[in-house]
Amino acid sequence: MGIQILPPQLANQIAAGEVVERPASVVKELVENSLDAGATRVDIEIDKGGSKLIRIRDNGVGIPKDELSLALSRHATSKLHSLDDLEAILSFGFRGEALASISSVSRLTLTSNTAGQSEAWQAYAEGSQMAVRVIPAAHPIGSTIEVIDLFFNTPARRRFLKSDKTEFTHIDEWLKRIALVRGEIHFTLSHNGKLVRNYRPALTQAQYLQRLAQVSDRHFAEQALRIECEHDGLRLSGYLQSPLQTRATETHYFYVNGRLVRDRLVNHAVRQAFAGQAQAEQPAYVLMLNLDPHQVDVNVHPAKHEVRFHQGRYIHDYILQALQSALEQAGELALSGAVP
Ligand code: ADP
Ligand code: MG
Repeated sequence: MGIQILPPQLANQIAAGEVVERPASVVKELVENSLDAGATRVDIEIDKGGSKLIRIRDNGVGIPKDELSLALSRHATSKLHSLDDLEAILSFGFRGEALASISSVSRLTLTSNTAGQSEAWQAYAEGSQMAVRVIPAAHPIGSTIEVIDLFFNTPARRRFLKSDKTEFTHIDEWLKRIALVRGEIHFTLSHNGKLVRNYRPALTQAQYLQRLAQVSDRHFAEQALRIECEHDGLRLSGYLQSPLQTRATETHYFYVNGRLVRDRLVNHAVRQAFAGQAQAEQPAYVLMLNLDPHQVDVNVHPAKHEVRFHQGRYIHDYILQALQSALEQAGELALSGAVP
């Protein structure tokens, strides 16, 4: 056959294989884009577990008309300009492939308006060359991305989808994770026309605890120990299960610079902090670590679940100390008869 350059749609479909596994991965990419765009409210509508419809509406800055077709192109991003930027990345996106990939495996339309233009525009890509068409539309400042018939043209992928209920649960679970770290954002989630979640903005600690109760578990939220610690450019904040709460709660969230990550380091630190206490299970926690982005690599995996700390040991010990001192304080309060 000879060497040929892949047509854009096929190249994008191949890339989609890496980042777009199921409806929840589409929701993740799109909502992260909304947050990167400075949205304070994000509404998510799902039909049939996301296989029929995923619609994300935000009140972010929007995309100017002349950038709509770039937004749908592969390797086009407004978030990264050099390799230096990659080492200090704070936004969620940076690969510039989500919209192009999703658009190659669904019927995607992008409608957007910005403060600088007098009307909204809608864009979609068609055909194997993914030529972008732009037509006038109505929309307030912000963006709506509509993804219809996900995987309609990649039947092998479509067959891998589980029941609507299961796919919706994945979306719901993902939203919980982001709702805990972005308390200030108003999120709503609907399924088949019915409002399922309404996470109102949590701007105070009390409101955040309400959100924690809504997302996780009321008992955990009522008794959790507050963690707040800052030292040498590291900041750890969040909540840790109280040793007085013996009921198990499956809440284990660790965020690094606003990203949820899977890291054994924090589980280990939590277990070690509780060593000697009568805790059978892994105690629940929601912990947020903020540090100089140069101290951590987020580019380990395309789905970006993993990070690599340059000084893992130091960070582990820092977390351990913060948790130990919160536990000690709670213990002293308990001994002195005060309610923790
Ligand atoms: P990335 O997020 O990695 O840059 P994407 O394919 O997800 O790549 O998005 C491409 C570009 O489209 C983004 O860099 C951003 O400029 C723009 N964009 C996408 N979604 C939105 C949105 N909801 N609001 C504003 N701009 C957006
Ligand atoms: Mg993105």
